[in-house]
Amino acid sequence: MQWNDLIAWIEEEKLGAVRANEPMADHTSWRIGGPAKVMVWPEDTAACSQLLGHCKTTGIPVAVLGYGTNLLVADEGIDALVINTREMNWILWQDHQVRAGAGASLAVLAGQAARRGLQGLAFSIGIPGSVGGAVLMNAGAYNGMISDVVSQVVVLDLNGGQQVLSKEDIHYGYRVSDLKKNHWFVAEALLTLQPGDREALEKEMNDCLKARKEKQPLELPNGGSVFKNPAGEGAGRFIDRAGLKGLRIGDAQVSLKHANFIVNLGHATAKDTYTLIRTVQQRIQQQYGISLEPEVVFWGLKE
Ligand SMILES: Cc1cc2nc3c(=O)[nH]c(=O)nc-3n(C[C@H](O)[C@H](O)[C@H](O)COP(=O)(O)OP(=O)(O)OC[C@H]3O[C@@H](n4cnc5c(N)ncnc54)[C@H](O)[C@@H]3O)c2cc1C
Repeated sequence: MQWNDLIAWIEEEKLGAVRANEPMADHTSWRIGGPAKVMVWPEDTAACSQLLGHCKTTGIPVAVLGYGTNLLVADEGIDALVINTREMNWILWQDHQVRAGAGASLAVLAGQAARRGLQGLAFSIGIPGSVGGAVLMNAGAYNGMISDVVSQVVVLDLNGGQQVLSKEDIHYGYRVSDLKKNHWFVAEALLTLQPGDREALEKEMNDCLKARKEKQPLELPNGGSVFKNPAGEGAGRFIDRAGLKGLRIGDAQVSLKHANFIVNLGHATAKDTYTLIRTVQQRIQQQYGISLEPEVVFWGLKE
């Protein structure tokens, strides 16, 4: 009943398209996950603020979804209002700065920057996430990180209250940020880029995409790097050396191409995938005494 009331309220307030029992498997790159009780697609920050405020007052759990490219959702789904940021995908350029909504594509932004001869985002061309997810997770690759170019982030707290944070307020580290720690909703970000050479940037991006295609199992559904790299070495190297490439539980398999990826061979469940993640962690702990920390985020599964 609570969920029907919520849907009726969202429709009445015109806060975005809304659906009940939306399969999360349709919204994650792993193609895994049971239904979200309610999913809403707000179009602006004001609508998000209203949604968060209402859920706080009524005690309804909320979860924020970007492009679902770093997310493992339980087979039972999630009893929450899932705020899908896809419609908040505006991008506004001004000289060498760009302001983008949470739901803008990082890869689209990187392409636009290169065409404008602006550097600072080329590293992100193959990262399939949203600006909001990238800013929260401090997405990075090839020695670049989104925090290198973030100048300002507009966030909402759990009550829906808006704040404008500077990079210094966020305390970025390797795949961590205070945004994540404080469960803030990232509504928009201002990025500052530097003048660069368009041709060189386009070449750098093409090389990067080619390298990813060669090294990563992009032909199968996956959730990106499963584990953070322990200091000094790639998590994939340990997994490979331990002989775990190809290890399979149900249809979840440690990729034969890149050991830090787990691929869905067709009908992998969250349970299969999660059990495989735990198995890999245990084997690496036993063999090397190293505790691998997941980079992927779990919804409805114990971290
Ligand atoms: C093939 C592949 C390659 C990848 N390569 C890389 C890589 O090189 N480097 C890298 O860093 N990552 C990589 N990733 C992982 C992923 O793309 C990034 O972590 C990305 O930043 C996640 O963004 P998303 O929009 O998909 O977030 P989601 O997966 O939707 O969400 C991830 C987390 O962020 C939260 N979140 C999302 N949007 C918001 C928001 N607006 N406000 C608050 N919280 C939010 C969610 O609640 C969740 O906790 C890769 C993934 C894949 C599938």
